[in-house]
Amino acid sequence: MKYSDYVDAIPLGSCPFCASDDRKFIENKTAYVTYALAPYHKHHLLIVPKEHKKSFLHLSPEEHMDIQDLAEKSSRLLRYLGYEDFTLMVREGAGGGKSVEHLHYHFIPNVRLGDLDHANGVRNLMSDGELKSLVEEVRNVIDRL
Ligand SMILES: [Zn+2]
Repeated sequence: MKYSDYVDAIPLGSCPFCASDDRKFIENKTAYVTYALAPYHKHHLLIVPKEHKKSFLHLSPEEHMDIQDLAEKSSRLLRYLGYEDFTLMVREGAGGGKSVEHLHYHFIPNVRLGDLDHANGVRNLMSDGELKSLVEEVRNVIDRL
């Protein structure tokens, strides 16, 4: 089954991360580690806050610390499985692509995500004009932080 078909089949108002008691490898008070149903790699892990939140900006200090704790444990777990390189990626919201709306962190061994762009093409350096435009755009919103 394609992952996009799985996401499309999730009933409105239902969340697979809120209903996944049988998928927990490791847990602490506010978060847990599970596997990815559609992995980039065999040992692709997910770190998921137990409470349904859409953004890491909504996490409490305790939840941030618990996620950090599980990131460290996931790192040790993957090292015991023989990996040395990881990518840790935050995924929030479902906008811009197929995903579960519940905030989660992808912990992926040995995947060179940095070589691909969002359409799985080869990454290219920005032109001088694109770079100038990007810097201008970012600097214009920094004062709003
Ligand atoms: Zn949820």
